[in-house]
Amino acid sequence: ATPTAVMVATGKGASQGVLIKGGNALEKAHKVKTVVFDKTGTLTVGKPEVVSAVPFSGYSMEEFCDLATAAEVNSEHPMAKAVVEHAKRYRQKIGSHTKHFTEVKDFEVHTGAGVSGKVGDATVLVGNKRLMRACKVPIGPKVDDYISKNEQLARTCVLVAIDGKVAGAFAVTDPVKPEAKLVISYLRSMSISSVMVTGDNLATATAIANEVGIDKVFAETDPLGKADKIKELQMKGMAVAMVGDGINDSPALAAADVGMAIGAGTDVAIEAADIVLIKSNLEDVVTAIDLSRKTMSRIR
Ligand code: ADP
Ligand code: MG
Repeated sequence: ATPTAVMVATGKGASQGVLIKGGNALEKAHKVKTVVFDKTGTLTVGKPEVVSAVPFSGYSMEEFCDLATAAEVNSEHPMAKAVVEHAKRYRQKIGSHTKHFTEVKDFEVHTGAGVSGKVGDATVLVGNKRLMRACKVPIGPKVDDYISKNEQLARTCVLVAIDGKVAGAFAVTDPVKPEAKLVISYLRSMSISSVMVTGDNLATATAIANEVGIDKVFAETDPLGKADKIKELQMKGMAVAMVGDGINDSPALAAADVGMAIGAGTDVAIEAADIVLIKSNLEDVVTAIDLSRKTMSRIR
C-alpha cells in the first residue's frame, strides 16, 4: 500500500478504536484465513465468579475456604481473585470472626495449574486436576463427578487439597462476551475459520467453544504451546491472526501474522500485538480485517 493509503486507513482505524501499529499489520490482515482466540478474557468477559463450593474428605466449608484463601491471596490469577472474593463473602454470610490465615510459607506458583504453600502445619494445594495429579493427590469418584458435571456446564473447577487429600472444590463461571457468537459466524461468512487456544481443561473449553460456534479447540496449552499452534497453522500456508489479552498470550501474539490484543488486557499482550482493540469488543476483529481488505483492494 502507498504511505498515504496506510495513513488514511490507520487514522480511520484509530477513530473506531482499532489501533494499528504500522503498515505491515494492515497489509497482512486482509490475507488472514484463520483467527485463533484465547478463551479467558478474550472470548469470555474475564471476571470469573465462584458459583458453587463443596467440601470433601470431612473438611468443613470454612476450613477449606480459609486455607484456599491463604494461598490464593498471593496470586494475581483471575481464578485466585474469584476464590478469595467468594471466601470473603462466605465468611460475611456466616458471620465468622475466627482468626484468618494469612501467613503462607514456601509459596509457589505453578503456571497454568495453580498455587501451593504451607499454612500453619497444613500443606495446601489450590488448582486444577493436572496440579493434583502432578502432586499425587488422588481424585475420588465424588470429586470426579463434581468436576465433570461442572465442566459440562462450561465451568472451571478449582480444587483445594490439604495434606494430600482433596478437601473441597469451587466451580467458577466466566460468561462469554455477548458479541462473541455473532463475530465467529460473521468471520465464517468472510471465509475465515475460528480456533480456540486455552490453558484451561478440554471439557470446559469445549463447552465454551460450542456456545460461541467454534469447532476447533486446543486446551491445556501453555504460553509457548499457544505460539506453537500458531506456527503449525502457518505451516499449512495460512495467514493467521491471534486475539488475546494475557501475558500467557504474548508469545502467540508475536508469532501470529497479525497479533490483536484486547484493550483491557495486560500491558505485555498490548506490547506484543500489532493491533490493539481499544474497546475490547470482538466486533473490532472484523473491523480490522475489513479495513485491511478495503485498503488493499483499493491499491490493486
Ligand atoms: P488461560 O489460558 O485460560 O488464561 P492459564 O494458563 O492462566 O489459563 O491457567 C490454566 C488453568 O490453570 C486455569 O484454567 C485454572 O484451572 C488453573 N489455574 C492457574 N492458576 C490458578 C490459580 N492461581 N488458582 C486456581 N487455578 C489456577
Ligand atoms: Mg486470557
